[in-house]
Amino acid sequence: MLNRLGGALASGRFPQAALFVGPPGVGKQRLALWAAQGLLCERGPAPPCGECRSCHQVAVLGHPDLHWFVPIPRPKATDPAKQIEEAGELLGQAIEERRQDGLWQRPEGLVSHSLASVRLLHRRVWLTPFAGPRKVFILGDAERLIVQEASQEAANALLKVLEEPPADTTVILTAADPHQLLPTIRSRLVAVRVLRVADEDVREFLRREVQPPPEDEVLERRTVLAEGCIGRALGDEEETAAPDRAADKLLRTVRERRGQWPALALAQRPWSARGDFTGMLDALAVRLRRELRDAGGRPGGNVAQSMQALQRVEATRAAAQGNVNPQLALSVLAAELEALL
Ligand SMILES: [Zn+2]
Repeated sequence: MLNRLGGALASGRFPQAALFVGPPGVGKQRLALWAAQGLLCERGPAPPCGECRSCHQVAVLGHPDLHWFVPIPRPKATDPAKQIEEAGELLGQAIEERRQDGLWQRPEGLVSHSLASVRLLHRRVWLTPFAGPRKVFILGDAERLIVQEASQEAANALLKVLEEPPADTTVILTAADPHQLLPTIRSRLVAVRVLRVADEDVREFLRREVQPPPEDEVLERRTVLAEGCIGRALGDEEETAAPDRAADKLLRTVRERRGQWPALALAQRPWSARGDFTGMLDALAVRLRRELRDAGGRPGGNVAQSMQALQRVEATRAAAQGNVNPQLALSVLAAELEALL
């Protein structure tokens, strides 16, 4: 992955408008920051040298030509000019928090890329770079772009930027579910798939990045739960454990409390939690595969039905990438699992 992107950076083939796609927590924004570092590197564009002043500035999120847009609360001002100003301040605060933590969580609740954020981006895109020859914009969690429904004017402004960014500008959007972006936005971006990495790499990364290094047992658990997603491995325990808890609860419900699953399905939020939904399905598949593996040597385990259950979970996971209603999908799946398990 890094090799391929590094090659694109070095040869000047890195797209001017890119969409990094991959599962929640896989490290899309981290990779976008890495690419930004390479684009802004004083010895670049190339894979970042990690040593020059520009690389250091990106590493501490303090480069004047790195513009990282993350979802923020909606500005309270009513005057559009004031809204843009307020969005700038809110963004500054959000990035400051990330600078101090080094880690960050998936966005919660009502944060979004509001109209004000898009207008701010539009304004900054046309400025000349402060430091070097180039500037880079990262727009994380692009599913949270409000412009999509709210304003034709802002949507058009964004489309124009994506279609023809100024020559000195690179724009990288990240999304777990690209189908939640307007097709007109999606079609203007070069998609780059961000893949899961091997357990060994996750382990290595945790050993290097987490201070103090976790004990072996903790390290192992976080590696397994991360399932190849470095961002998930770095997330705090609470966040990491949520999909597992949801999967456990679903399995317990369909096995021990027959007929009780509709309440569970209704509790599934209809759309905002699509990432949570797919996370839960992933955790569910891990459990079923483990059960199958453990049952392999034992006679009498109902392997055929467990296989079918796993296939149903995987099919639902695939459908969840598209435009399905998680509530409905979960209802269908729970009924099927109850019959099978
Ligand atoms: Zn450098």
